[in-house]
Amino acid sequence: MSKADHVVIIGAGIIGAASAFHCLDAGLQVTLTEPETPGASQASSYGNAGWLSSHSVLPPASPGIWRQVPSWLADPLGPLSVRWRYFPRALPWLVRYLAAAWTYPKIERTAHALRSLLAGAPELHQHMAQQAGVGELIARSGLLHAFLSREHFLLDAKAWAIRRKEGITWQELDAVALAKLEPDLDPKYAFGVFVGETGSCRNPGDYTAALIRHAQTRGATLLHARATGFRIENGSLKAVLTESGEVLCDKAVIAVGARSKAFAAMAGDHVSLETERGYHAVVTGVDVGPRVPTMFADCKVIVTQMNQGLRVAGQVEIAEADDTPNWRRAEILRDHLLALYPALPRDLAPEQIQIWMGRRPSTPDGLPCLGLASGCTDVIHAYGHGHIGLVSSARTGRIVAQLAAGHTPEIDLSPFSPTRFS
Ligand SMILES: Cc1cc2nc3c(=O)[nH]c(=O)nc-3n(C[C@H](O)[C@H](O)[C@H](O)COP(=O)(O)OP(=O)(O)OC[C@H]3O[C@@H](n4cnc5c(N)ncnc54)[C@H](O)[C@@H]3O)c2cc1C
Repeated sequence: MSKADHVVIIGAGIIGAASAFHCLDAGLQVTLTEPETPGASQASSYGNAGWLSSHSVLPPASPGIWRQVPSWLADPLGPLSVRWRYFPRALPWLVRYLAAAWTYPKIERTAHALRSLLAGAPELHQHMAQQAGVGELIARSGLLHAFLSREHFLLDAKAWAIRRKEGITWQELDAVALAKLEPDLDPKYAFGVFVGETGSCRNPGDYTAALIRHAQTRGATLLHARATGFRIENGSLKAVLTESGEVLCDKAVIAVGARSKAFAAMAGDHVSLETERGYHAVVTGVDVGPRVPTMFADCKVIVTQMNQGLRVAGQVEIAEADDTPNWRRAEILRDHLLALYPALPRDLAPEQIQIWMGRRPSTPDGLPCLGLASGCTDVIHAYGHGHIGLVSSARTGRIVAQLAAGHTPEIDLSPFSPTRFS
């Protein structure tokens, strides 16, 4: 492929934005197709928890989690739920989800692959943000896991041992050290784990938008159009089809997050991809909250101080991507937030709270689909990043550029193969 070759990136979420950044670095001509405003609320990249958690190497499921399946159906407001009417359609994905984490050796293999994608991610994001003129959006304050006690932390000891095997280190905090670090936190949390290599993004939506603007200043074209498919002739890509006509190109990147399954099929690969819907609530005008972005193991939420306000994010709801949101879930997140930081005012005005629902593009094994399509090697898969799409986008973008330029990718892509579900 020559340097002047043209890559069309379908979707301008954080994966598309990071891919554009690195394709331009590689000297490729770039067009992004996106029907909405990049980084706006339709994208999962808008409202996530901002964690640049290079230690997030474990798949979402774990051995023995199958015992919880009845509660996923029975409790529609639990931290993980499946909508009844969607259950039959989600079943094949759910079976794979449980199987992928059936044993610890399986989880170790996933962790090893994810670590290759995530190692060094905070530094890679710092570089991209600085180049795009928004370096202040990336914070390097580390990340905190809060537990009710050391015993609760030890319940998850196997998972932390797998992290240690991958070279991840952390600092353990007793109740006194935790209270010193986080004076606003409910004192019932008596144990903490601080992971110093990590970071966070103070406004993921603005970060995505800034990367797209930066790509435009470097010559990329942003086409406000919904892509509909490919024109592939004799196994060779000719164009990406959009509602505004076709865009001639040499390579195409599928980066439409939760909407990627149909594009993958058009490129010859039948992937297992579901929407794990999540929610956030942002409280503005308060000066109470965490110094360090914090994940709570018991209620399964993350609290991050964003530029817009204090964001609490979490919940997993397996449902049709466009089914109506269950806003009660965002209210539950808000209630958790008020309980976690007791000094927060109880009399919040309605205009002080913003809520959002987003769609994690999730494979059952927690590994994204990354690699060349089997039906046409000019098409590149770059989706399915689930719970870790923000943090993993930086290296994903580098790999997309390497594939688009015909170079050998910097990590082994076999665990991420889009053909692994067939
Ligand atoms: C509550 C919550 C918390 C999270 N917290 C974190 C976190 O702390 N850290 C982390 O790393 N990850 C987190 N994630 C996951 C992360 O947000 C996602 O994995 C990531 O944003 C996915 O990025 P994406 O670019 O693949 O998809 P998206 O951001 O959804 O972008 C896809 C884009 O494609 C566009 N599109 C759709 N259809 C078409 C089409 N036909 N043609 C052209 N464009 C199209 C859409 O408009 C959209 O802009 C969280 C997710 C949620 C929901």
